[in-house]
Amino acid sequence: MTSTDQRYDPSCMDDFDPASLDAGQALTQIINTVPRPHEVETVPIQDSLGRVIASESHSRINVPGHTNSAMDGYAICGEDIPVRGQAVLSVIGTSWAGRPFTESIRPGECVRIMTGAAMPDGSDTVVMQERVEKNGDMVSIDSNNKPGQNVRQAGEDIQAGEIVLESGKHIRPAELGLLASTGIGEVTVYKKLRVAFFSTGDELRPIGSKLQKGQIYDSNRYTLYGMLSRLGVEITDLGVIGDERNVIEQVFSDAAAEADVVITSGGVSVGEADFVKEILEQHGTVHFWKVAMKPGRPLAFGKIGNAWFFGLPGNPVSVMVTFYVFVLPALRKMMGNPHQEPLTVTATCSSKLRKRAGRVEYQRGILTWEKDGGSSGHSYRVSKTGPQGSGVLRSMSDANCFIILPMESSGVEVGDAVKVLPFETIV
Ligand code: AMP
Ligand code: MG
Repeated sequence: MTSTDQRYDPSCMDDFDPASLDAGQALTQIINTVPRPHEVETVPIQDSLGRVIASESHSRINVPGHTNSAMDGYAICGEDIPVRGQAVLSVIGTSWAGRPFTESIRPGECVRIMTGAAMPDGSDTVVMQERVEKNGDMVSIDSNNKPGQNVRQAGEDIQAGEIVLESGKHIRPAELGLLASTGIGEVTVYKKLRVAFFSTGDELRPIGSKLQKGQIYDSNRYTLYGMLSRLGVEITDLGVIGDERNVIEQVFSDAAAEADVVITSGGVSVGEADFVKEILEQHGTVHFWKVAMKPGRPLAFGKIGNAWFFGLPGNPVSVMVTFYVFVLPALRKMMGNPHQEPLTVTATCSSKLRKRAGRVEYQRGILTWEKDGGSSGHSYRVSKTGPQGSGVLRSMSDANCFIILPMESSGVEVGDAVKVLPFETIV
């Protein structure tokens, strides 16, 4: 590496420590330690978004409730479809969505029908309106139709008595709709996790104040706020706490008394750790780890009083990476979600990535799906987002994925395959 490279990308600076804990082991230890939830409550379905079903609910009805048309067209008897040529049928009425045709139809007859309208008795097939020729009260249909087509059967989505959502199911917009379609208005879910967080550091100032030399605005509480809000936990923002023993001690014990989980940022790296360590040793059991990972080497995990504690590093990118890698899976377990490995893809790297062996790295990347000359026509490509320093929050903001480089990797050349963890999915 040239000195110019080093100046532009401080992320390459050497902070390798052979005594570090393997990131996978740290995660396993955290996941095996935190409990599943047990307290439940029954809430209106709108309030259940992002939460986890604690007790399965059964449908009392078929969805759809009646066999109905999937198209605007004509409901006919399937046996009227001609083998060749045309068949002429007389239109004896209309079935609207919500206003069904209440009589039966006989062979040779049909009913004008709208999408979602109940099929009249005697009919079993719908011919699209574009596929008929209309002549007054008569329509003619041809042989290009199949009995049973364009019809949605009663109960084809959910049958009466069936379980709508199993317990352990995470509720997304689709689940809200599914519950609503069965007429269920309330569900039993695990209680919301209460998460309190604060930032530590004498240099931190809240937005709105003027910065003196050496001071910075506190950004970690905002990224934490964002990540926790999306997760749907109950949040208590305890603000910025200066590096002052008595105050930190007080805030820790207040936070632990009112929250299930306490998250802090800053103050766990060497130099400061002893101070926080002393307080935490008095009030709980906390491990201070140096994880073989970049960004995010210092990490504290344990218990203060009855609350689970995550002490994240101070650097803004490290906070986000350690949250996603260690805290998010732990919170999900405490919320009742079954453990799921995040979905990753393999991409061809368009950037040269510097790295030293001996730690896992989460570099920030831009993932695209691009045309290539290969047999399948397209492939994933990923490039890094500028400087990768653990204080460069822009690298997260520009990114749509993490490029995960394993322990043993000692860098990536242009064209190498890399493992990528995309940030967002649509539901
Ligand atoms: P620390 O772990 O407390 O030594 O902090 C490591 C680095 O992260 C230092 O440069 C801090 O100024 C910075 N830092 C700590 N907390 C925050 C915060 N809440 N917002 C932005 N930067 C922070
Ligand atoms: Mg600090």
